[in-house]
Amino acid sequence: MAARVLDGTAVAAAIRAEVGPAVAAFTARAGRPPGLGIVLVGDDPASAIYVRNKLKSAGDAGLRTDLEQMPATATLAELLAVVERLNRSDVHDGILVQSPLPVAMGDDAERQVFDAIRPDKDVDGLHPINVGYLVQNRASLVSCTPAGVIELLDRSDVKIAGARAVVIGRSNIVGKPMALLLLHRHATVTICHSRTVDLPGVCAEADILVAAIGRPGFVTPVFVKPGAAVVDVGTSQVSDRAVVERLFPPESKRREVFERRGSIVVGDVHPDVAAIAGALSPVPGGVGPLTIAMLLKNTLAAAQLRAGAGG
Ligand code: NAP
Repeated sequence: MAARVLDGTAVAAAIRAEVGPAVAAFTARAGRPPGLGIVLVGDDPASAIYVRNKLKSAGDAGLRTDLEQMPATATLAELLAVVERLNRSDVHDGILVQSPLPVAMGDDAERQVFDAIRPDKDVDGLHPINVGYLVQNRASLVSCTPAGVIELLDRSDVKIAGARAVVIGRSNIVGKPMALLLLHRHATVTICHSRTVDLPGVCAEADILVAAIGRPGFVTPVFVKPGAAVVDVGTSQVSDRAVVERLFPPESKRREVFERRGSIVVGDVHPDVAAIAGALSPVPGGVGPLTIAMLLKNTLAAAQLRAGAGG
């Protein structure tokens, strides 16, 4: 039996429909819309697309959006100066610095930049203060992708409390906050990574399996307990024909898109998992749209919090 689709596009639309009137109410009350400042450094094509989508969605929701575009040759000091300007701005409630930063900025650049964002404007939830609040289950700004996964599970009637949940991936932006959010919702959580012994065996115990690895089709049916809810966070741009042919049959929609475009976005979960899982989020159309919807929600929350705090 084919898995039920965890429809991220529909859930994201529902969240946006809720955010819109709340943004209008804030705007009427405050005399200005919630504002989001996005900083894009360099010319990474994928980042440019992500930023364009974020700007469009935020604009459509009635937010003020400002893009600070900096060349790949920008220095860390110049970037920190832009962040500081946005920190002091009265019209920007949220600040997002798109990662990855250019390699030339150095290994430690992202940490320094994320640490420099005012915690109450940190709509990506990456500042150590917000991470600390998350650990203590009192965070208001949580990393958008894992927060979106929780919305997807909740609004698709997947029961989290009491479930065995396994998260593959331990990044600061997805894996770790994902595990904490599931824990706070009373799941029994295991975090897996590249050193996990018997990864398929551990994953096959999960009622809820979240894959955030970045390896196309890595999670095959042997990783999945029959009937489990599987959330595919992975997004890899694949242009290697052999990989596409291994994953998708000749007449499939995905193959057709690949033939047309020369590349497709592929998740971490193998398509054959649909035959064994109880519910499965597709890629595209699963977690991706939710990440953007949660960015809008976080920006609104930041604006409301700052207004409430008189700031
Ligand atoms: P990341 O920082 O590269 O982390 C990947 C994690 O996967 C690491 O913890 C790594 O383990 C683990 N891993 C890698 N290979 C593994 C293996 N063979 N077995 C077990 N674990 C393995 O990536 P990320 O930023 O968390 O993103 C993960 C994926 O989600 C990417 O495809 C990314 O594009 C996607 N993503 C999607 C959205 C969205 O909106 N849909 C948002 C964010 C990210 P170690 O720690 O041991 O190295």
